[in-house]
Amino acid sequence: MRAMRIKNFGSGRRREKWPDHRLIENHPRIDALALARGGGTVASVATTMRWTNGFTATIRAEPTRLIIETADLQQVVALDPKRCGFLVRAGMLCPACSRRCTYLVENGGIFSCRQCCGLDYSSRHRNRDRWSAIARIAKLRQKLGADVSPLAPLPPRPHHNTALMRYDRIVAEIERQERVLIGEDDRHE
Ligand SMILES: [Zn+2]
Repeated sequence: MRAMRIKNFGSGRRREKWPDHRLIENHPRIDALALARGGGTVASVATTMRWTNGFTATIRAEPTRLIIETADLQQVVALDPKRCGFLVRAGMLCPACSRRCTYLVENGGIFSCRQCCGLDYSSRHRNRDRWSAIARIAKLRQKLGADVSPLAPLPPRPHHNTALMRYDRIVAEIERQERVLIGEDDRHE
């Protein structure tokens, strides 16, 4: 297991007047390019990242995806390498909106792209709505023991009758919330 220390986190001048905790710069961030440079996108390599605020995540690479494990949650992120001439440029698909991105930013223990993380002030109201939908979906998905990322596969329906009713109720709500998330995408992109 490799350990990577993120030195720059939280340094950097403060340019914005928004509270510090709302700034993307003050949240743990996974940089696909830095991860790839350290060999962290090679299948079966596990990289433990520890940010200066104490937040820790272990990123396990599989052939086509990353599994991000934090103290409470497990998130699956698809890798999306892009060929540029002789080079391959690392990239990821945001687990919330599926857009290709280089950075994933942590908010409330969940990683998503700059647009989805709820910390982008230039359009912060929209992002807060997105963010609360993503957080609600994560909570519902956690109840089923599923990957917390929106649109990730759900576990199979249980056989037991009571469990089945609970499962169907939660899945219906997840699907409703995820439609809201996607619908919002359609309106704005
Ligand atoms: Zn996103």
